Amino acid sequence: MVGTKRARAARASGTSTEGRTIDRMRLARLLARELVRFEDQHPRSRELFERARRSLLAGVPMNWMARWAGPYPVFVERAAGARIWDVDGHAYADFCLGDTGSMFGHSPPIVVRAIERQLRRGITTMLPTEDSVWVGDELSRRFGLPYWQLAMTATDANRFAIRIAREVTGRPKILVFNGCYHGSVDEALVELENGKIVPINGSIGPPVEPSVTTKVIEFNDVAALDRALTPGDVAAVLAEPAMTNQGIILPDPGYHDHLREITRRTGTLLIIDETHTLCEGPGGYTRAHQLKPDMITLGKPVASGIPAAAFGMAEGIAEPSLPKARGEGADESGIGGTLSGNPLAAAAMRATLEHVITPAAYRRMIPLAKRWTAGVERTIREQGLPWHVTRLGARAEYRFRPTPPHNGGEAIASKDADLDRFVHLYALNRGILLTPFHNMALMSPSTRAADVDLHTKVFAECARELIG
Ligand code: PMP
Repeated sequence: MVGTKRARAARASGTSTEGRTIDRMRLARLLARELVRFEDQHPRSRELFERARRSLLAGVPMNWMARWAGPYPVFVERAAGARIWDVDGHAYADFCLGDTGSMFGHSPPIVVRAIERQLRRGITTMLPTEDSVWVGDELSRRFGLPYWQLAMTATDANRFAIRIAREVTGRPKILVFNGCYHGSVDEALVELENGKIVPINGSIGPPVEPSVTTKVIEFNDVAALDRALTPGDVAAVLAEPAMTNQGIILPDPGYHDHLREITRRTGTLLIIDETHTLCEGPGGYTRAHQLKPDMITLGKPVASGIPAAAFGMAEGIAEPSLPKARGEGADESGIGGTLSGNPLAAAAMRATLEHVITPAAYRRMIPLAKRWTAGVERTIREQGLPWHVTRLGARAEYRFRPTPPHNGGEAIASKDADLDRFVHLYALNRGILLTPFHNMALMSPSTRAADVDLHTKVFAECARELIG
């Protein structure tokens, strides 16, 4: 988890608030009790985990899957809509939704039908299909950028966008915000430690000294942005429009105007990563707040979880990159991969955009997120906890500090790994999945009000037990 070491240090020095109200001995006792309950209820998952450890590093197909609150993850039997069933026969209200990959519900039937149809008509061909044309048109319509390319993952989309930004500007560096996450993109796996740029805490094998490729500043700091971009060596700012990966951090009023003005004035491109902020509306945060980025990247839910992503470009970006993008000598190695834009991904993306990521879906999801937020807020208020809850469209999250953080540094300092683990495990043991690394909940069109109300009840019980 990003920044855990620093959060621990902050707590030890008494700078975070939660240590004053939560009795740590009590927390340790409750956590131990929940761990026993988890193990009692998940023998089959434990068996599979033990077997997996013989051949899978960390006992899981991808190491992140070991980062759930239990001593091992629950193994999934199946998922549908906003529900997951595990191999021990438990059903969960799923607010994690594949950490956004299934934000519009697991296996939406209409997308499944489109995928099934395409499976019989060819999976990957190195040739385009009509679906990709539909997708390009639709992305242009929604996000307001004229030219698009498809990729496999949001990580890919960000990596390719960065390459294009370097090509177009002839500049070497990328600027990101402290506490960001944009996928396994080398330039962005960095953070600030006492004002110095360092590889993100725990990242495996950083390729070069990070300040060679990257500048890092805090979000919402206009003066720092001006200072960082003025030398004219930054190709692009890569930013989530509202940060989501240290919990939700909203931009200050007017911040995006400054960001756009300073990037334009210094000839720096602005890449907006909408992978998570698609929770704000069908055209992402960009459309909802009328941002004017040079490039947009998207991934995860855009094909209902079938690997697919996209990046879009303004006219002035697409045109100068064309000589290397088409014809003789086209770059066939730095951008894209053999499976990018394959017919299966294009079919899944078309069906998802056409039928699933619709204005009607948000009309269901956003009121549910408001209901979830109100439930959490009520408990925080009634119990007098120094916590708060924030919402960004269909995404909601609570945090163990009284006020919303202004930037990544503040957010990281307020993390509390033990408390995090306890609230996640408490919820999981009572049929609720929250997103690991966060106290975050996503609402899908299939989420029910009863799921939200179950969370409200369990959260209130959890808080009462913690306070004692
Ligand atoms: N951008 C953002 C904002 C993300 O949060 C993530 C992953 N959580 C990514 C990009 C990368 O997505 P993927 O792991 O699917 O490549």
